[in-house]
Amino acid sequence: MHSDSTEFNTNSIPNPLISRRDFVGGAAITGAAYVIGIPGLTTAKLLAGAAKRIITPNPLLPVSGGMGPTHPTKEKRGEITARALYLTDGNTSIVIVGLDLLGFPGVLADRVRKRVPRVAAENIMIGSTHTHSAPDCYAFPDGKGGHTGDLAFMDRVCVLAAEAVNEAIDRAKPAKLRINTDEAKGKIAYNYYAPDLYDRRMSVIQAVGADDKAIGTLVNYAIHPEVLGNSIGILSPDLIGPLCDRLEERAGGTAIFMNSAQGGMVTADNRDLSKPKDPQRAYWEDSRTWEECSRNRRWFFLCHL
Ligand SMILES: [Zn+2]
Repeated sequence: MHSDSTEFNTNSIPNPLISRRDFVGGAAITGAAYVIGIPGLTTAKLLAGAAKRIITPNPLLPVSGGMGPTHPTKEKRGEITARALYLTDGNTSIVIVGLDLLGFPGVLADRVRKRVPRVAAENIMIGSTHTHSAPDCYAFPDGKGGHTGDLAFMDRVCVLAAEAVNEAIDRAKPAKLRINTDEAKGKIAYNYYAPDLYDRRMSVIQAVGADDKAIGTLVNYAIHPEVLGNSIGILSPDLIGPLCDRLEERAGGTAIFMNSAQGGMVTADNRDLSKPKDPQRAYWEDSRTWEECSRNRRWFFLCHL
C-alpha cells in the first residue's frame, strides 16, 4: 500500500498569500467559528465565488500512485474534479484551486493561470489532493524511453480548472469568512510507520453569503487519499470525493480540499483492526472499498459547521 518511496510536493504555491501558519493559526478554540480576516484582504467588502468541473476522463485512463508503472482501470468511483474558490476585496484577489490528482506540476499550473487574466498569476494557488487513483499528470518515465502521462488529459484538466476559476469569479458575491481549526477525532488518519505520530488538526475557511449559506468551504487536513490505492482497477477521488459531497450536502456551496503535511507517512486509517497482518510489527489488513472512503465522511461532523 504505502510502497511509493517517491513522494512529491503536490502543491504549486508561488509566493502564497495565505501561509500554512495562517491556515492553522487563525482560530484554535474548540467549537468556535470565527469571522476573521485573511492577510491582504479587507473583509468589509469581501466578495467570494466558487465553482467546480468534473475532470474524469472518458474513456477512463490508467491511474498512478507515484513513480513506476501506472495501473489500468475498469471502473470509477465518484468523479475526479477541479474546484476553485475566489476571494476579492476589490483590490486584492486570490484563487485557491483543488484538483483530484496525485500532483500537478508548475508548468501545468502556469497554463491554468494564463487562462485566468483577471487574477494575478502569483495569487492563484493550485494544489492536488494527492489521490493515488487518478491519471498521471507528471509524465513519469515509463522505463522504455517514454512516459506514463496522457498529454490530452493534462490539457483538458488545465482548460477545465481555468473554467472553474473563471466561473467562480463570475459568481462572486458579498461574503464573510468563517475560520476554525480543531482536532479531528476518530478513526480518520494515522501514521503508517508510527501510528500515533501525526497532526490531528483540521482547518476550515468558509465563505458565507448574505443569505448565510455557504459559497465555498476550504478544508486543510493531512491525509493520504489512498484507501482504494492504484492497484485495484478503480479511478477515483478516493475519500476526498465523499468528504466534499458530504460537506456540500450539509453546508451548500462548493467544497475544496487542500492536503496538509502527509510525509512519512500520514494516511487514511482504513485498517481493519479485527484482521492483524503482522501483530509484532503492528500491521493490519486494509479495507480498500468505496464504502470505506464514504465512512470517512463522518469526520465532517467534527467541523462545527
Ligand atoms: Zn503518496
